[in-house]
Order: sequence, then C-alpha cells, then structure tokens
Amino acid sequence: MDFTTLPQLDLTNRSVFLRLDLNVPLIDGVIQDDTRIRAALPTIQYILERTHKLVIASHLGRPKGVVTPACSLEPIGRRLSELLQRDVLLVHDYAEEPIDSLLSQLGKNQVILLENLRFHPEETAGSETFAKNLMKGIHLYVNDAFGALHRAHSSIYEAALEVPRESRAIGFLIEKEIAALTQLTTDVRRPYTLIMGGSKVEDKIGVMLHLLEHCNRLLIGGAMAYTFLEIQGFPIGNSFVEREKRALCQSILDMAQARKVEICLPIDHVCGKSLDPETPHQVVDGIAIPAGWMGLDIGPKTIRLFESYILNSSTVFWNGPMGVFEWPPFAKGSLKVAEAVGRCMGFTVVGGGDSVSAVNQAHMASRIRHVSTGGGASLAYLEGTPLPGLRVLEKRADHGG
Ligand code: AMP
Repeated sequence: MDFTTLPQLDLTNRSVFLRLDLNVPLIDGVIQDDTRIRAALPTIQYILERTHKLVIASHLGRPKGVVTPACSLEPIGRRLSELLQRDVLLVHDYAEEPIDSLLSQLGKNQVILLENLRFHPEETAGSETFAKNLMKGIHLYVNDAFGALHRAHSSIYEAALEVPRESRAIGFLIEKEIAALTQLTTDVRRPYTLIMGGSKVEDKIGVMLHLLEHCNRLLIGGAMAYTFLEIQGFPIGNSFVEREKRALCQSILDMAQARKVEICLPIDHVCGKSLDPETPHQVVDGIAIPAGWMGLDIGPKTIRLFESYILNSSTVFWNGPMGVFEWPPFAKGSLKVAEAVGRCMGFTVVGGGDSVSAVNQAHMASRIRHVSTGGGASLAYLEGTPLPGLRVLEKRADHGG
C-alpha cells in the first residue's frame, strides 16, 4: 500500500479538511487526558505553517446522531486553542450551511473545528450528501484519525472521494502507525513474542492467526486463556469461558503446532470467588483452578515466565490485559507485563485501550517503541482486513473512486 504523505502535498494557500481522532476522555466537560489532542499537533502545525485554511473534524463518544451536550467538542476546541495559540471557531450548523463562505473569510489566526461529527446520523451512515457538505470549498483531504480508519463513516470514506486521489493524504500519526505495524509482519527480528489477553477471543482470533505466521511464541493471558486451558483438559473452576469459541481456540493451537510456535498459557493464577471488585481472592499455584473459584489474573510464576520470554525478545506485540486489571487485586499481571515490555530492548508495540492504560499506569509509555492509538483499527490492520479509511487514501485505486 502506498499513500501520499503530508510533505508530498502542496498545501500553499489550499483549503484542507483534516479528520482527526480527538475522542478524549471527558468528565463533566473536563478533559481527563489530552494525549490525543497533543498527538495531533505535529500534523495540525505542519498544515498551519503552509495554509491557514484548515477545517478540523472529529467524533467524540457515541452520541448516536443526536446533539448531546456531554459529547460537545467545545472543551477540545478550548484546549486546542491554548496549544495552538490561535482562535478555534467551533462550527455547529455545517451540515446545513457548508463552511465554504466561512473559509474564505477566515482570519490568519483562526482555525475551524466542526462540532462532533456524530451529532449527525449521516456520519455513521456514510452519507454522500453529508460528505459533499463537509468538503464544499475544500481542496485537500488529510486523515490522521488512525483509530477510526476501520469505519466507513462519511468523514472517513465519502469525504475523501470528494477530491481527486492525488489530493488525499495521510497525516503523521497514521504514517507512524503504519510504519510500526508493518514492522510486525515484515523482516521481523527474532525471537518475536506475541502477547494476547483480554476477554473476547473472537476479536483477536484474526490477529493471532495472522501473526502466528511470523512470531516464535504466543503468550496468552486474560479471560481468553481459560478457554484454551479448558480445551486442553484442565479444570478451570468458574473462570470466564467462551464455550462456543472452543473450535477457534483449537485452530490456534493447531496452527501454532504446525508453525512450531510455542504457546504459553498461565501456570498459576490469582483467583476470586466472583466477578466483583470486593471478592475474596487468593493465588492458586498450578494450572488447575479449584471448583468455586475463577481465574481473574495471571499468578506470580506466570508473571516471571512471561517476563523472561518478553525480556529476551527482539520483537514484541501486546494486545489485551492479563486480568481484570481495573480492580487492584487483579492488576499486577498486566502491570508487570507492561513493565517487562517497557524494559525489553527489542522493537515493542502495544495496541488496544486496556493494554495501553496498563502501560500508562506502569509509566512505561515512553519506553515502548510504539503505543498504538487505535485498538480496533490496529487489530484490523494486523489481521490484513482492508480498512475503508486507508483504501480510499491509497495512491493507486484497486476499486472505484
Ligand atoms: P478485551 O476488550 O477483549 O481486550 O477485554 C478486556 C476486558 O477483559 C477487561 O475489561 C478485563 O477486565 C477483562 N478480563 C481480563 N481478564 C479477565 C478474566 N480473567 N476474567 C474476566 N474478565 C477478564
């Protein structure tokens, strides 16, 4: 796949539509973490150094097509204005009143920010008319919303079609994401360790199958480990298990065997009585979980085992927590894995909301080579699923548009 990058676009005095992912956590209108806003700054600043005619658009939360004050981009606009030292004009009625006339009057120190795209049902429906309005008076389309590329929403897909292919580009964040994720499947340095956790086998099966072709070992933790242990005949007590996913798990085990990939499952556990933050808990030594208990985190021996694999790896990809890390008694496995990935001297990539939070909680983000901003999008990219938002930006079309 080949994309036009920002430095390849002639931006001088052109009007630019920039799709970002400014979906930051907000509580009562207060930004809890502005990482995504800061991460977008290099692309914004690069554009603003060449043209002031910039329209920024993003979604925030899931307002489901209804104007919802709690999902307003107003606080994001204020933060952007502080960071950019410019006036950020929050535009509300762009679906009815295209911003082309506003663009022509835009002052040199002003930037347009469109109010939450998802206030309009047309956005998620992928409406062409909505996209035409967004793009009225726009010369260039730039997408830097990596986390949204797997959605064929109007601003992601249809809007790009409104300008010629050579006028569409990826921003610096997407460029970085693609470079890092590509390195996980091309000319990889070995040993290569894949760490998968979390609860839903189905979401991760595609990535596991795809990366099994490249990696040397697969460490499995989190709830999904119990379905794997169960099909191997181990008692798992009341642990979370996806019985209907047994065949998928078996296909992973079979493929790993065929490819000589070592599979590592938990050898001890931190167990609770129920899925409750206050539940009594204990370490269960050994693979088998006694009746009446459920595995809610990997145990100390598993932590040491996983650490030793991670530390002697030249490539690591981690997605999904090792336990119910939201609750302190079951957080240690994920935090220790985050620390080990941070200490690993190889090429390390972490993707997925929960594993990224674990990395942040363990203060390891700066020691990890690449922390992916898009969980679903990074998994889709790695499993080789075409992302609508990327396909539309490819330099050469293998489809319409
Ligand atoms: P996923 O969205 O598939 O990455 O799963 C993340 C969720 O899995 C988190 O909310 C964790 O609390 C949960 N989780 C991880 N390990 C376990 C476990 N052993 N039992 C139940 N839930 C778990």
